[in-house]
Amino acid sequence: MAAMFGLQMVTASSYKLLSCRGLRPREAMFFRDGAIGTADIASHCGGSLVPSCSKKTPMSTSTKTFKAVAKVTGNDAASVSGHGLQIDLRGKRAFVAGVADDNGYGWAIAKSLAAAGAEILLGTWVPALNIFETSLRRGKFDESRVLPDGSLMEITKVYPLDAVYDNPEDVPEEIKTNKRYAGCSKWTVQEVAESVKEDFGSIDILVHSLANGPEVTKPLLETSRNGYLTAVSASSYSFVSLLKHFVPIMRPGGSSVSLTYIASEKIIPGYGGGMSSAKAALESDTRVLAFEAGRKHKIRVNTISAGPLRSRAAKAIGFIDMMIDYSLDNAPLQKELTADEVGNTAAFLASPLASAITGAVIYVDNGLNAMGVGVDSPLFAELSIPKSSH
Ligand code: NAD
Repeated sequence: MAAMFGLQMVTASSYKLLSCRGLRPREAMFFRDGAIGTADIASHCGGSLVPSCSKKTPMSTSTKTFKAVAKVTGNDAASVSGHGLQIDLRGKRAFVAGVADDNGYGWAIAKSLAAAGAEILLGTWVPALNIFETSLRRGKFDESRVLPDGSLMEITKVYPLDAVYDNPEDVPEEIKTNKRYAGCSKWTVQEVAESVKEDFGSIDILVHSLANGPEVTKPLLETSRNGYLTAVSASSYSFVSLLKHFVPIMRPGGSSVSLTYIASEKIIPGYGGGMSSAKAALESDTRVLAFEAGRKHKIRVNTISAGPLRSRAAKAIGFIDMMIDYSLDNAPLQKELTADEVGNTAAFLASPLASAITGAVIYVDNGLNAMGVGVDSPLFAELSIPKSSH
């Protein structure tokens, strides 16, 4: 039985794993019968995007990363055909807010949702929209668009979005006249929800994969009021606002998911500027919103506490390679976390298989959250702690 759509929770293998030379681990791809699909992207960017396996992608830079044991991609367990419990999102429509390149969690979530058959709409931060659309059109993301069945992820439409503004009345003059916003309209949360309603009527899945903390590199003790409040506005209230405006067009049984980080509950030096507080608020809001949206609209609300990923936003914080190395040394599972593993969890959470899960913080971090100590401390040298052979 061929799986035309869907992520399947089995390990049969009628697919062949091809790891394109020079690709990063998460870009190892499955091709069926050696073929790669050439579906056109149907976003308003237009253009036919033909995938290529020949383009070399620079390898990542963390030295320890390459000592990592098996590069298990999320696709290994999820992209095969055969029998099993299927994540089937055919007929569902997803709006994924916070995608501006192919390196972050938002992109990986969109891909997993698309692999399961969902239609994909994206919300892209206005100042990043132009470059994102140009890159899409020029095929820069073609390799990353390949889905487990060899076809390409289709993006039905990309909407400009700035999630710190709820409606046009909120937008200050300096933003209205800012040249990075020139030529774009209807990008406040309320307007985007209205546009999606006008274009498609409804959605089933809402993904919030965005954050911003202008003072993230500053310790909390040195963070300004404005920096702190901006972090909470962009990284936490933005989710409240998105859900508030999208819930009326979400079909009952729908699901929403956001991304959080362990710094909400444990001290992570270097994750400053109020971002730890913003993630704590996001997790607390997840519970309250799960109650309110569940009771009133039969919508589920969950958040994924993800381990470290070398995304654009994470690189800006400045210590992402250190966090990846720390996880490799200290997590129960000594492998690099791939964005696909988070994407697949989001697809599961969006699916009917997770129909009783709401208000939850789901850890996708190789188990690092469960550790009470860092076992790489020299103090533990005498203990015979099993280590991977990397
Ligand atoms: P990313 O750079 O791919 O995503 C962040 C996105 O937020 C970008 O596309 C950016 O354009 C967008 N954005 C910023 N301000 C915005 C605004 N006002 N309106 C709309 N969009 C805006 O990086 P990522 O690391 O994949 O981040 C996605 C989510 O994952 C974030 O919530 C982040 O905190 C969370 N997370 C990341 C890590 C990690 O290590 N990378 C770990 C745990 C959680």
